[in-house]
Amino acid sequence: MLINLTDVLASEGKVVEKQIETELLQLSCRMGVFSVKEKTPLTLTLTNLGINKASVRGRMELTFAMQCDRCLKPVSQKVVLDFIREIAGPDERAEAAEEDDQNFMDGYQLDVESLIQNECFLNLPVKVLCRPDCRGLCMQCGADLNGKECGCDTFIPDPRMARIKDIFDANKEV
Ligand SMILES: [Zn+2]
Ligand SMILES: [Zn+2]
Repeated sequence: MLINLTDVLASEGKVVEKQIETELLQLSCRMGVFSVKEKTPLTLTLTNLGINKASVRGRMELTFAMQCDRCLKPVSQKVVLDFIREIAGPDERAEAAEEDDQNFMDGYQLDVESLIQNECFLNLPVKVLCRPDCRGLCMQCGADLNGKECGCDTFIPDPRMARIKDIFDANKEV
């Protein structure tokens, strides 16, 4: 969805508040593609900051269908957005081209979906876990260790300790 900001950028002291139903259905990033399970409307506050300058404040909550990094169980990951970005009209942006982080602006139009995607990238957790102490899957048999112990010997001995154990075992046999 595109919102025309000509009015806000041109009218000194102007403040506009909008509630927007975004069209975002999924988020593609290097971690994968995650579908949006739930989302609130986006509350946008557009405030004029002088000639050709404005701030955009956005608030929204989304829930993504993700999976636990350790045990792969489905996880509903909530992301709360509350951000403020300063924007400028196309002329100001051309002058400050080297720091153009406003890929969500197209001329005087604000692309709501791009803006929201940017903010989601910034707010996604580094690690997605079904619970903080998830024990993950057994490296040997793949069993979910949050259930019961699978009984695999996952003990990886320190090579130096293994040598001492060999000597100990050898002496025991004598
Ligand atoms: Zn897990
Ligand atoms: Zn196992």
